[in-house]
Formats: sequence, C-alpha cells, structure tokens
Amino acid sequence: MEILYKSTRGGGEPITASAAILKGLADDGGLFVPERIPALDKSLAELAQMEYAQVAYEVMKLYLTDFTEEELKNCIARAYDSKFDTQEIAPLAEADGAYYLELFHGATIAFKDMALSILPHLMTTAAKKNEIKNEIVILTATSGDTGKAALAGFADVEGTRIIVFYPKNGVSPIQEKQMVTQKGANTFVVGIHGNFDDAQSGVKKIFADGALKQKLDENGFQFSSANSINIGRLVPQIVYYVYAYAKLLAEGRISEGEQINVVVPTGNFGNILAAYYAKNMGLPIDKLICASNENKVLFDFFESGTYDRNREFVLTSSPSMDILISSNLERLIYRIAGEDAQKNASLMQELSNAGKYTITDAMKAELASFYGGYASEQETAQRIGELYEKTGYVIDTHTAVASVVYEKYKKETGDTKKTVIASTASPFKFTRSVMNAIDQKYDSMDDFALVDELSKIANAAVPRAIEEIRTAPVLHDHVCEKNEMADTVCGFLGIME
Ligand SMILES: *Cc1c(COP(=O)(O)O)cnc(C)c1O
Repeated sequence: MEILYKSTRGGGEPITASAAILKGLADDGGLFVPERIPALDKSLAELAQMEYAQVAYEVMKLYLTDFTEEELKNCIARAYDSKFDTQEIAPLAEADGAYYLELFHGATIAFKDMALSILPHLMTTAAKKNEIKNEIVILTATSGDTGKAALAGFADVEGTRIIVFYPKNGVSPIQEKQMVTQKGANTFVVGIHGNFDDAQSGVKKIFADGALKQKLDENGFQFSSANSINIGRLVPQIVYYVYAYAKLLAEGRISEGEQINVVVPTGNFGNILAAYYAKNMGLPIDKLICASNENKVLFDFFESGTYDRNREFVLTSSPSMDILISSNLERLIYRIAGEDAQKNASLMQELSNAGKYTITDAMKAELASFYGGYASEQETAQRIGELYEKTGYVIDTHTAVASVVYEKYKKETGDTKKTVIASTASPFKFTRSVMNAIDQKYDSMDDFALVDELSKIANAAVPRAIEEIRTAPVLHDHVCEKNEMADTVCGFLGIME
C-alpha cells in the first residue's frame, strides 16, 4: 500500500517517499513523516532466516513505496557490500549480560555509515524517478562524524557533488585527517574559521538564499541535505533493529515474540527514533532506553515533560552526542500529540522563541515505553575500564554512555529482559579517550601509537578506515572565513555568484 509523507507542521500536500528524500526538509520547516507507520509483513521466524540485505529490503519496501523492487534492491546491494569489514554488516557481541549491536563496521567506523552508505543511491534513484536533470549538490556542516560518512557515501556517485564545512580547529586530529584525505573528484572539504554553529548557520543561510538557488538552477545544480532529518536516513536505521531481533531469534537466544529492550546513546534522536518506529511496526521491543551524556536535555525531558535547551553546552568525550537541540524529537512530539500538526508547530515555535516547551500530561502518558538516563564523564570512563577488565571487550565512549545507563536501569527496575545496546562507534575512532579510560599510562603516547596499542589489548585488527589515513596524502586544504561560504560553494561549482 502506498505511503506518502507529510510535514510535522502541517504545511503543503503529502508527497512521495522519493520526493521527500530529495527535499530533505519540508518547506514549512517541519520534518517529513510517513502518513502511517506500516506493520511488518513477514513473520519474525521468516526474518530470522534472512541476511542483512534481505531484511533491509523487507523493511524499506514498506516505507519507500514509490521505489520499484528492482530499484530498491539495487540501492541495497550497492550500499551493504565490501565497504563493510564484516559479512554480517551489523554483528551482535555479547558482553557482561547485554548484546552490543555493532553498527560501526562501515567505511568511516561510526553508525552514520549504516544510513549514509545507502542515502546517495536512494537520492540518485529518486532524482531519476522525479526527472531531475540537475546535478545534486549535498551541503553538510559537520562536527566530525557526519561529514566523513557523507563524503565516503557520496564520493564518485554520478550526478552528485558533496561539500563539507567543518570548524578548522574544532574537530579531533583523526576526524580532520579522515576528511582532508577524502578521495573523489566530486568531493570538496573546507575548514572554516569559526565553530560548528558558524558552519551550521552558514549552511542554513545558503539553503535559504533564493537568488543563489536560482543561480544554481540556471547552471544545472540544486542543493540537498544529508543530515539526519532526511527520511532517507531514518528508514535505513530501522532495519538493524529488526535484524538484531531476528538474529537473536535465529541463534535461539530469545523465543518468537519475546520482548527485548533497546538502549541507544542519543544526540539528535535519529537512532532511537528508528527503534521507536521498529516497535510501532510490531517488533517486540519493550523499553526504549535513551542514554545521554552530560548534555542531558533529553533525560530532563523524559523526567519532567519540559524540554529546555537553556543551559550550558558541555564538551564531553562523546562529542557526537554533544547537542542541545535534538531535531528528530519533533517527529516523536508530533506522534504523541496525536498527529496534531498545529499543536506540534506551536511547541516548536516556543522552542525557537523561548528555548523550551512543556508537553501535556496526556502526551507524557504516551511516553511510557521510553526510559531516560544519563552518564557523567567519570562514569563513562569507568565503565570502559570495568567492561574491559571483566570481559576483554572494548567499547567506545558513546557506547559506554549507553552501557552505564543500562546498568543504572537494571539496578532501578530489576528488569531482566534481553537487551540490545546500540554500539555506535568503533573504539578506534576515539582511541585516546578509550585508552585513557583503561589506563592513565597511555596518556603520553601519540595517536597512531595508541591505535596500535589498542589493537593489541583488544585483540582486534586496526580498521581499514584508520590504516588508510595513517599515510594518506592531504587532498583538501581549503580554508575560508565564515562569511565566505557561499562564494566558496560557487567557486567549487565553477559559477559566478
Ligand atoms: C551521531 C552519533 C550518535 C547520536 O546519534 P543520534 O541519531 O544523533 O541520536 C551517537 N554516537 C555516535 C558515535 C554518533 O556518531
């Protein structure tokens, strides 16, 4: 049955999945949501017999209903291939009474690869279906992980170009090296003199520039977005929750229909929202455990019903979760408001005016399946060391936040259901914090020496993504001022502004 997409703020007519992927954000500033959440149409026992790509098809076909079977299978085949260093794509590792769903085996060793390896194919297919003749220019501002994953996904994809702006002095050395060594004639990486907010607002300004949009169109280009508000990123993320359940079932660790819990280290609320969609499709998930670091705006929201971003921004060892405005939460708010776009829009207006809003008691009652928790910096580091001592398994800082929150949840509730923890980055991506958590003596070693040491103690090969940048030549050295971003884009595209 066909599913169309509408804005969470009620503007415009519903559009097809492919049109929503091309647009990214709705014209009224809302996010696209499916008119209804479809139910799984294969039994859990059937799904348990399938490989990742097959599960991906069974889930995605229910959402991307204007893609043909051939188109969708083709996108899936091109995404989940040898770019991943494991045949399983998303393996489960059991450690200390939980199942870690490793979502970091892709090209850039963070979970962003799960969606960003398929988004470019969905987007070029969508462009063909909608008879877009222009070349698509992906603009991205990044604080580290999204930029590299988007670059890797879009590199050398025909009909696309990708431009990434990052804060010149605001990313880790490994993250910068990953980006500036990116190959691909259609890739462009620029450091700006400014922070992440400057990069982000510069990109938003370019998107909103009508004259520039016109100029691009005259020259055969149009902009699109690869960030997590695009439904082309949300839908592929539902897949791995279904896959994880099916895998536990196939291995006889749960029985068919048995409920499990899911713990997700959360920033922009995209990953956990995908788990919520999976639950609403009929996957037997009981609790959705939302784990925050010291930027615990979501924990406070689940406690009190008030979302309040007026607080200090804390820099933590899990930087991909350092965020005070969780964009994808809007999709949940819309749903618990009974799909009342007006109500959602007025709450979002309050957020933009006053930096906070409070939901009604009736809405709060709809959040019963969520549990919010958070981990301090000290608890996070301690958990990495403790888990390593106990089991030899090494997790990254983001995953450790989730692991701490799960331990707290168990203690508080006594719940013994089988639990999947989303493991969102390889420990090799945050080597220094991870190694310092294991032993202070590592503090004096340089980054690549630490990588080799981690490989030894974790008994794990150094991922290709890290091996590659050790010796890779720098291919991008553009730097610009924050007010020169539009000029820089035009220069790269070879058009006069
Ligand atoms: C992006 C990211 C997160 C947060 O995911 P959201 O979907 O934004 O909630 C967590 N961990 C890592 C390693 C990430 O890169």
